[in-house]
Amino acid sequence: SQASSEPPAGWAPTDIDVSTPSIARVYDAILGGKDNFPADRVVADQFMQFVPGGREAAQYNRALLNRGVRYLAEQGVRQFIDLGSGLPTVSNTHQAAQSVAPDARVVYVDNDPIVLAHGRALLAENRNTTVITADFRHSQKVLAHPDLRALIDLDQPVGLILFGVVHHINDDEDPAGVIRHYRDALAAGSYLFLTHFVAHGEQTTELEKMLLADLGTGRFRTLAEIGEYFDGLDLVEPGLVYNPLWRPQEPVPEPLTLTEKLVAGGLARKA
Ligand code: SAM
Repeated sequence: SQASSEPPAGWAPTDIDVSTPSIARVYDAILGGKDNFPADRVVADQFMQFVPGGREAAQYNRALLNRGVRYLAEQGVRQFIDLGSGLPTVSNTHQAAQSVAPDARVVYVDNDPIVLAHGRALLAENRNTTVITADFRHSQKVLAHPDLRALIDLDQPVGLILFGVVHHINDDEDPAGVIRHYRDALAAGSYLFLTHFVAHGEQTTELEKMLLADLGTGRFRTLAEIGEYFDGLDLVEPGLVYNPLWRPQEPVPEPLTLTEKLVAGGLARKA
């Protein structure tokens, strides 16, 4: 498979430490991408031991991103900020948005410089899209970034995407406060679109321990805790639900498996 071979020599930008696993590259390995190294694959393999359907869980997440971004573009949203966007993979936010609205503008933000290195090549031809290397917890800095301001008019509605990244913010880092700052800065008519690992008792406690040990982050929160991030916003139907249940294109058989319940997502509008 692609994931078992080394990226070609000269692939990695020199300032990237490939001996320590990175969240972006572990996620790429789980998705079956090729932009990862042995240290990343060790963590990805451990993850799959806990959740053998880990790859499907990641694919559900990408599929939901796609459905929701197209939905937002259909509602008239023309600008998107994708925080913790990850390495480019199949059907990224700008492709989903621009498939509906070719003039849609997308700013990707990730604190892993490898995302910029790979994103640049992909986006060289797309002047409505850019990648910024920044820690999204520093919301003021992110929103003031000149490359973001070049594409995003904060007086107009924005689709703010936080997919699979708030669970990489530990409790003492005030995830709700960070999200609140973005929400407050955005114009009426903006949307918060977020997915997050869901706690399922012992089944996820061990997985959480493993991720905290290997990556330093990876929190599983309850649906009630995740729901608080949307407080005061108008949740779009069907609300905060396990990923496969958000406006599925085909009926989803119940009961759901752990893989299907590993991540939940919601989309909500700021009035
Ligand atoms: N959003 C993509 C998705 O859902 O398919 C990628 C999710 S991946 C699990 C999480 C991404 O968030 C990684 O690329 C990681 O580098 C990035 N990330 C983690 N903490 C971050 C932070 N504090 N600021 C910016 N990006 C961060």
